[in-house]
Amino acid sequence: MNSFQWPNGARGAVSLSFDDGLKTHVENAVPTLNDYGLRGTFYIPMAPGGAFDQRIHHWRAAASQGHEIGNHSMTHPCSANFGFSRRALDYLTLEDITGEILDARRRITEEIPDQKAHSFAYPCGETKVGSGKNHISYVPVVAEHYVVGRGIGDFANDPVLCDLACTWSFMPTDPPAERLIGWADMARNMGRWSIFCFHGVGGEHFHLRMEALRMLLDHLAAHRDEIWTDTVINVGTWIRDHRERVCA
Ligand SMILES: [Zn+2]
Repeated sequence: MNSFQWPNGARGAVSLSFDDGLKTHVENAVPTLNDYGLRGTFYIPMAPGGAFDQRIHHWRAAASQGHEIGNHSMTHPCSANFGFSRRALDYLTLEDITGEILDARRRITEEIPDQKAHSFAYPCGETKVGSGKNHISYVPVVAEHYVVGRGIGDFANDPVLCDLACTWSFMPTDPPAERLIGWADMARNMGRWSIFCFHGVGGEHFHLRMEALRMLLDHLAAHRDEIWTDTVINVGTWIRDHRERVCA
């Protein structure tokens, strides 16, 4: 056997992820996904008083509808090169980033106790802490605590060979619907898992147009027998549980 076995005869998988807990996620993305009976993954920084707390009732409702509320750390630390803040990855240790991940995980499990499991998304897709001679990967920290870590890379993951602790997602900017559909179909044709990373939906930054989202969801819903669309944690867990057989 040389091909991976997706559930229910599907030929490939797609996950739709939305980062940073934006207003347009609760106002636009969640209701549109619900219209099509599809589920998304929402990665939210968990710092008190921030994106999660400001829309806590919406996130709880989304989780109860089957969407995933995922870990995006507490304070969303990224490279110091962005100039966002002094709390940049360059100045953090493995201990610091472990604290960021576990504090956020504790908050998610306390605030959404009915959600069985969730995944982690590296803020800015960056997987290292420290700088210069002390620049080291924190993928092992994520692997210790999570089945799936979502990074940034190309349009699809090989389910048998990919590092689940550091999967690729890709972040198209204002993509036309035809391109989104093309990527989903390509993942299906190759037997792979495509993880889309979106930010603003019908507004806000790195805007995805509503029309493009609807056309993509139309396509995914119409081809649900061939393309398995589900949350990052659900697809990743399926892969973890089924790929050993292929390697054996
Ligand atoms: Zn982010």
